[in-house]
Amino acid sequence: MIRAIYPGSFDPVTYGHYDIICRSCKIVDELIVGVLNNKAKMPLFSVEERVKMLKEVTKDLGNVKVVPFDGLLVEFARQQKARLVIRGLRAITDFEYELQIAQTNSKLSNGMLDTVFLTTSLEYAYLSSSSVKEIASFHGDISQCVPDFVAKLVYEKYKDNSNDRLIKSDKYGGVL
Ligand code: ADP
Repeated sequence: MIRAIYPGSFDPVTYGHYDIICRSCKIVDELIVGVLNNKAKMPLFSVEERVKMLKEVTKDLGNVKVVPFDGLLVEFARQQKARLVIRGLRAITDFEYELQIAQTNSKLSNGMLDTVFLTTSLEYAYLSSSSVKEIASFHGDISQCVPDFVAKLVYEKYKDNSNDRLIKSDKYGGVL
């Protein structure tokens, strides 16, 4: 039985994330989407909101569970009895950072936690949660990037522009 964790901020979940989730859950027996509650970051959505969105997006996928976590990914993996981490790679710029995280997690877990990389589907290579927020903050069209119900929630956050400052503080990271 292979149980894997797909960790991330998912602030908010995009079609790029969904693509990785769908492809991963065909490869592994059980996929746990780990939603990072990183206190050092200032997410647009609370961890509860992000979990709720992901549960809705994955509701038709039988072997996917959505679970919030904080602290070290190796600890979370140990608790969940998973020994595989799935990460998505968009561009060569993702690679250096991801390689370092994968190696650190392997070291921290004494070789018990391996990372598998899925390369992005070409149509989503450009897509990130940060770009979705940036577009939405200028009231641009994000319908190609996220499901409709997610788009509504994102626009809602930018209704009064008070969240504009959150866009720049959200470079993904910290999934160690
Ligand atoms: P981001 O804010 O950049 O979307 P996350 O922390 O939410 O970052 O991403 C979680 C994981 O999903 C990471 O492994 C990231 O590389 C991957 N990912 C994000 N967007 C895409 C995409 N468009 N295609 C493939 N993988 C992606």
